[in-house]
Amino acid sequence: MASGAEFYAYPWDLSDEGVDAAATILSQTLGPGGGVLLALSYHVSTYFSPHNPRRKLYYGEEGAVYFVPDESLYADTAMRPLVSHVVTGSNYMPDLVRGLQRHDLRFSAWAVYFYNHHLPQAFPDVARRDCFGEPYLAQVCPAAPAARHYAIALTRDMLRHGPAAIQLESLSYLPCRYGFRNPKVLVDIAPYHEFLLGLCFCPHCLTAAQAGGVDADLLRRDVATYLDVALAVEPAATLMEADLTEQIDVAFNGRLVQYLEVRTETATSLFEQVAATVHDAGAEATFFGSLDRQVTGLDRQRVLRCIDAVYTRILGAAEELPATVSHLRQDLPDVRLVSIAAPGASSNETRARIEAEAAAGVDGFAFYTYGLLRRTQIDWIGAAREVWTDNTKDGVAE
Ligand SMILES: [Zn+2]
Repeated sequence: MASGAEFYAYPWDLSDEGVDAAATILSQTLGPGGGVLLALSYHVSTYFSPHNPRRKLYYGEEGAVYFVPDESLYADTAMRPLVSHVVTGSNYMPDLVRGLQRHDLRFSAWAVYFYNHHLPQAFPDVARRDCFGEPYLAQVCPAAPAARHYAIALTRDMLRHGPAAIQLESLSYLPCRYGFRNPKVLVDIAPYHEFLLGLCFCPHCLTAAQAGGVDADLLRRDVATYLDVALAVEPAATLMEADLTEQIDVAFNGRLVQYLEVRTETATSLFEQVAATVHDAGAEATFFGSLDRQVTGLDRQRVLRCIDAVYTRILGAAEELPATVSHLRQDLPDVRLVSIAAPGASSNETRARIEAEAAAGVDGFAFYTYGLLRRTQIDWIGAAREVWTDNTKDGVAE
């Protein structure tokens, strides 16, 4: 099935404008088969919304959901989602979904899981912890049992709203700096050192590794001792450019590789459980994010077997696109490849880029995002819609 085109959207941009007014514009812009990826669980940001009639700036909340949760689904976990103050009541999300559906827009849920500033502060047991024991208040650790139950409960809670798909984002371990706010980092950190600093050594990760036969306590102490020395000095130029994998393979007498293997099972098995929960409800599971196994713990082959589409930014100049898309296809076999697209500097430039990406073979477009763009830019996207609506009709983009 060709994906056609979708818009990412934030719930408050639709409710502030009135869902029917917004859906009219979205539907006209996207044409037949259009869809909306609506944020149901989302991380903190500060948003400038140029065409929002109610507010131009929205200071986002600390990782919130945009619906009233069904408490009964969270019986297996102490964790509860933070409900955004824009949610006016239990009808808030159902009204938005019905509004989109009235305008024949396919509704999908856009779901950020473990990149969240609220959850690790409210439930310290699930915070990622580095080798020094410092909690990271922007990341939830996928090894924590409460977090694993929470991920399943949150998924079921979103499925209540009947999405055609759920886009799974940050359902894994995350890079060290993910969630830094106004960072004060004045010195260079070698990638290898940042990688080590980004590893989770919380009690749940240590327990899992020990169950897998790894002396995780010793590894944690060794990593801390090593970093204590290494981070205090300016990294050598060779270390700044060194191949991460080669360093990891020989580090700490092989214990680091063993530790990463356990992490891979931890993160990937949860991802599979969540994707299965989505599929069991008859919805699609789509993916945005990194499949860097060392950082995220996600096993590329296993993840690709349980998702239907990958959403990604297609980088590079127009003439490079055929090779770029071809490489992506080799890396991402058997899933749809959807371009997360943005308007160019003019209507012509916008259309030229969309045409070039379609010609290079992407399966669909997801424009980022409805509330953050100006109306003129949304019009430029709409002026190009025959690129994807024709593809949908002819099946060219299959
Ligand atoms: Zn952990």
